Amino acid sequence: MRKYLLDGHTHTLACGHGYSTLTELVQGAVAANLEMMCMTEHAPGIPGAPGAMFFSNYRIIPREIMGVKLLLGIESNILDTQGNLDVPKRALEKNRLDIISASLHEYCIPPTNKKDHTEAVMAAMNHSYVDFICHLGNPSYPIDIKAVVAEAKKTNTMIEINNGSIFIRWGSLENCVEIAKECVAQEVPMIVGSDAHYHTDVGRFPYVDKIMDLAQVPDELIVNLDCKRLTDYLKAKGRKLFANPRETADDLFKD
Ligand SMILES: [Zn+2]
Ligand SMILES: [Zn+2]
Repeated sequence: MRKYLLDGHTHTLACGHGYSTLTELVQGAVAANLEMMCMTEHAPGIPGAPGAMFFSNYRIIPREIMGVKLLLGIESNILDTQGNLDVPKRALEKNRLDIISASLHEYCIPPTNKKDHTEAVMAAMNHSYVDFICHLGNPSYPIDIKAVVAEAKKTNTMIEINNGSIFIRWGSLENCVEIAKECVAQEVPMIVGSDAHYHTDVGRFPYVDKIMDLAQVPDELIVNLDCKRLTDYLKAKGRKLFANPRETADDLFKD
């Protein structure tokens, strides 16, 4: 088993269908010996998901809890073949999201055909603020894998390999292996996510690790093996990682 140091994709109970608090997720990260965890809450398009205020208020959450560095972001929904997304404008404009993913979910874009799914994903990659696309192995949404990976390369977008897909989105395994192989062929970095909706899944990637073996993925293409690779990528996009407003407030009282 590779030594995964970060989890790129988790959910709290705030999404309406998750069962752990943020603090519990961090406890899960500690138990899995992670250095870093991304909390990527579902965007408003998913029934029961939080609204814009939830994402705008991330600044009050410490970016390190129990020794685990935190990146707070959003799993946005791809809404149409033009690649429109439901990322709340205010959170985006105020640069309050550390990491932004985009996904095809049935509540927001019902499956149609391979051409449409491919177009939708490729269009979403063209938003400069989208960092990675989630669970592309989902058999409900067949895609042109070669074309999608090529667009990821062109747009500097990471591809997620999702551990939860293997037991939630049945039929994903073969697609995930094919996607990983194509990422190797085109040298596109992959980010690994548990997609945990319960804290005991945080940082646990048994299925992904097998997929990486099957696709013979070199370590250099797995972002989770070196946290700096992810933070460098996000900083280059202008994200204010680990900003703490309390420190700025402390400055007010310096003589
Ligand atoms: Zn998802
Ligand atoms: Zn998710």
